[in-house]
Amino acid sequence: MSWDFSTDPDFQEQLDWMSDFVRGEIWPLETIWRELGMDGLREAIAPLAEQVRDRGLWAAHLPPELGGQGMGQVRLGLMHEILGSSPIAPLAFGNAAPDSGNAEILALAGTPEQKDRWLHPLLAGDLRSAFSMTEPNTPGSDPTQLCTRAVREGEEWVIDGRKWFSSNGSIADFLIVMAVTDPDARPAQRASMFIVPRDTPGVEVLRDVPTMEHPWEQFGAYGGHAEIAYNDVRVPADALLGAVGEGFVLAQQRLGPGRIHHCMRWLGVARRAFDMMCERATYRSAHGSLLAEKQTVQNWIADSAAEMQAARLMTLHAAWVMDTRGARDARIDIALIKFFGAKVLHDVIDRALQVHGALGYSTDLPLEQMYRFARGARFYDGPDEVHRQSVARRILQAYSPPPDGIPSEHLPTRRDAARERFAHLLGALTAND
Ligand SMILES: Cc1cc2nc3c(=O)[nH]c(=O)nc-3n(C[C@H](O)[C@H](O)[C@H](O)COP(=O)(O)OP(=O)(O)OC[C@H]3O[C@@H](n4cnc5c(N)ncnc54)[C@H](O)[C@@H]3O)c2cc1C
Repeated sequence: MSWDFSTDPDFQEQLDWMSDFVRGEIWPLETIWRELGMDGLREAIAPLAEQVRDRGLWAAHLPPELGGQGMGQVRLGLMHEILGSSPIAPLAFGNAAPDSGNAEILALAGTPEQKDRWLHPLLAGDLRSAFSMTEPNTPGSDPTQLCTRAVREGEEWVIDGRKWFSSNGSIADFLIVMAVTDPDARPAQRASMFIVPRDTPGVEVLRDVPTMEHPWEQFGAYGGHAEIAYNDVRVPADALLGAVGEGFVLAQQRLGPGRIHHCMRWLGVARRAFDMMCERATYRSAHGSLLAEKQTVQNWIADSAAEMQAARLMTLHAAWVMDTRGARDARIDIALIKFFGAKVLHDVIDRALQVHGALGYSTDLPLEQMYRFARGARFYDGPDEVHRQSVARRILQAYSPPPDGIPSEHLPTRRDAARERFAHLLGALTAND
């Protein structure tokens, strides 16, 4: 068995290229992308995406037969760490959420016809998609309670219900909708997924919900979270994705790798905030010394470095388990990094913001935006508490109550047992006294 923390030199070269490219070509666009609008942004990104394609890095999350690179999760993770530094970098690499996760579901469960119609144009960047599962009136953290229904009528499925927080729903060409197909089945087999073109009659995108991340009213912007009513939406039988009742299985398969990528992207954001914190500490002076010389600031820098390193190693380890043993074996590792990584992201940004004082709180720096973004990380793909609960439950499966209710480590009990076991030695010692 070997432990190896090195990166192939060839891939390291690609990572170095990505770092320079994202910093040099994409960071500048961040400052004007709202002015550019969606069409302008697409135009600005098109030549960059060409360069990414030429390097063989486009849509790298997919297997080679679908035009991806078949890199495995560790390499993808390292890549996402770089792309995560900018909210728009994933667009230039053909792996922006939620399109990347939706492409993975289509690759996994789509029929050849569904792949031709939806997956290939999605990968080419010609279509946009959304994942429409969470509902305003049922708990997203317990999706077995979903109430959006899909009922089979002849050769059609009829969908009724209301969703919200369908990210990119207002700019999507199609939505992957989770709906209950058999309310009487076991909880995990009640729901199925459907591909619903957004222009299907009855699909009503009501609004992009203003959020902590985007508090202003907007509609039809990249990164919006749509509230959508599905009123008597009729789709053909072949809109079903995967088998009837397979919705949760597919959702799990989509979410596993997606969480690793989120966690690595968060590290990219945290690293950027950390760099800002360190830079500021080197020149801001108060009460007779630089911030860099204050012990509290030094503690924040050291704690942040340690926490980011821990989150990074945990995330790469989860990716490695996934690559070597499969998604099932990686479930605890993925749940661990989901809540741990979200906290590290938050805490590093919070400290960086504090070190900058009012400047950090202002919109003259990206820190306040990062801070608002970070808060959402504790909800999407499952709130912290649910991941903690599933980690604790799985860990507890390896434990059972001690015999007679006496703790295994109870010293008087252990001492009595040891005295009995080693009586001959204790007896000899007494005899020698
Ligand atoms: C930025 C963002 C993007 C999103 N994008 C999408 C998307 O594209 N598609 C989509 O379908 N959904 C999306 N969501 C929704 C997200 O998946 C849900 O918010 C999440 O699953 C939680 O569901 P809920 O909001 O209904 O909270 P609830 O399920 O009502 O939970 C509320 C709180 O209850 C507590 N809680 C729940 N269960 C437990 C437990 N077992 N133990 C202890 N406490 C518990 C937690 O504190 C939790 O935060 C997005 C959300 C955000 C914030």
